[in-house]
Amino acid sequence: MKIIPLSIPTPFYVGDVNVYLIKEDPLTLIDVGPKTPEAAAALRDKLARNGVQFSDVRRIVLTHAHEDHCGLAKQVRDEAKNAEILVHDWETGHLFGRLAHEDHRNLMLRSGVPEQAFNEMQDLYANISLLTDSLADGDFRPLNDEMELEFESGSLRVLHTPGHTPGSCSFVREADRTIICGDCVLKRITPNPILAPDPIDPTKRFRSLAEYLVSLAKIREFKPTLAPDGHAVAFASDRWNGRLDIWVQPLKNDTPDGLALRLTDHPGLANYPAYSPDGRWIAYSRVEGDRRSIWIIPTRGGMPAQITEGPAARFHPSWSPDGSRVAFGAQDGGTYQVQFVPVAEGRRAGPLTTVVSGPKLSVSPAWSPDGSELAYVSAGEIWRVGVDGARDPRRITPGARIERVRWNRVSGRLFASGFWGGDRVTIRAVDLTTGATVPLPFAAILGQTDTNVDFDMSGNEQLLVFDREALRGAIWVLESKPRP
Ligand SMILES: [Zn+2]
Repeated sequence: MKIIPLSIPTPFYVGDVNVYLIKEDPLTLIDVGPKTPEAAAALRDKLARNGVQFSDVRRIVLTHAHEDHCGLAKQVRDEAKNAEILVHDWETGHLFGRLAHEDHRNLMLRSGVPEQAFNEMQDLYANISLLTDSLADGDFRPLNDEMELEFESGSLRVLHTPGHTPGSCSFVREADRTIICGDCVLKRITPNPILAPDPIDPTKRFRSLAEYLVSLAKIREFKPTLAPDGHAVAFASDRWNGRLDIWVQPLKNDTPDGLALRLTDHPGLANYPAYSPDGRWIAYSRVEGDRRSIWIIPTRGGMPAQITEGPAARFHPSWSPDGSRVAFGAQDGGTYQVQFVPVAEGRRAGPLTTVVSGPKLSVSPAWSPDGSELAYVSAGEIWRVGVDGARDPRRITPGARIERVRWNRVSGRLFASGFWGGDRVTIRAVDLTTGATVPLPFAAILGQTDTNVDFDMSGNEQLLVFDREALRGAIWVLESKPRP
């Protein structure tokens, strides 16, 4: 599915608005721009450059009913004759210049806005409302949360993301994790979750800010890890209820296959999932109050089991290649450790071993393919240490501001995410002896802060997963080298 962005001018200080053309059956526009001669001409012209006329449009989908997004809907629809207009029900209260004056007025006055100020606002709005045409109730079809907009070659999933307006919707293309989010997320300014009447009970206030935060949470996910067979990716997401849980997304040919399933369901947050080498278990870090402990849950669902206890915070679980041990980073007061416990059948099977202990934060342990060593990151450097504790840890990199390491079980190569002296987080292969690094053969930019640094790679090095901060955390799957 090719989504073509068209930039349309608005008379507002904010500048251009994005309209999206999806040029396949049914030919669809997402938003249309304000009703000004300039915007109409720009839309006509930019569509023409893509071989499209207003009369070709079959479907107009609106992210929300603000004038700069919906103004030309009626004009395009009328020229296109049979085009249908889709918008969320909760937008219709103030849709197309039909601001619910009484509801708004009552709410504002009750909230303490002086009558004169409200009248001035209304005058201001009178001008803005000229930037759209009115449509009657029967003129549009409602958009609903989780509804699919079907196209010839795929679909867009509707995500109700209220906040900017009560009926704001975003559109997700699962296949490549593209999202069109209207004004839900704006680049340099606040998306203004401001006062509006509740669409269900207009005598009440719509909880714009709270709803908006939930909307943002809906579209945040990170810390991906690949199943050993490459047929699923587990990740942390707060897409449900705003609480961070572990989710599993089945993959087929490196693209999502079916719905993601939520694996964890308990108080507190779940984060940093790690697949066992046989793919039967996922270890993760659970945060409950000020406790951070390591748990294991069956990949197919079931009861999780706690494998670390006590006040120390434990995080970044990592399985030994034979699946018999889980290592993790730990913090106990001002002391930091790399530790592991033996496990069997998803449960703890013996006493805890401390491999490294010191005053500096040590994170992201990764087992060597033979299970005799751990690599980890401390103070931005990669270190390696034997798990028997017979020798002191050795530093293997010079200063490079490294964040996470993964030691490939199959190829034996060590990969790390870090800044490498630049201002972006990328992944490199690291020589285990010299610390010399080799960039991946393509650019995978994880982020520009130390919040987007987690990644995983399949054993054959063909599949790389990472979370990237673009509009929000989304999980990306890239092929790291051509398949044989
Ligand atoms: Zn808007």
